[in-house]
Amino acid sequence: MSGPGAAWHLSVDAGTCIGSGMCAGIAPALFTLVDGVSVASPAPVAPDPAAVDAAESCPVEAIAVRDAADGHLVAPEP
Ligand code: SF4
Repeated sequence: MSGPGAAWHLSVDAGTCIGSGMCAGIAPALFTLVDGVSVASPAPVAPDPAAVDAAESCPVEAIAVRDAADGHLVAPEP
């Protein structure tokens, strides 16, 4: 599979993250707290509803979930 939507790229804006831990609680396989800041899985991941939940739940919208192929923003919704 290599079409759009086949993989997602996760990112956390370290300057915005307040270390609430919400994302790591929702999607522990995808986000890890390191020194009080969330770090997203560096490799593209298979589309996972937990990633969307985490992005939507982040209180400061520090998380971006993008289509790895074209960069289209998957979550959070604007
Ligand atoms: S939910 Fe948002 S603010 Fe909380 S740790 Fe994750 S990225 Fe940081």
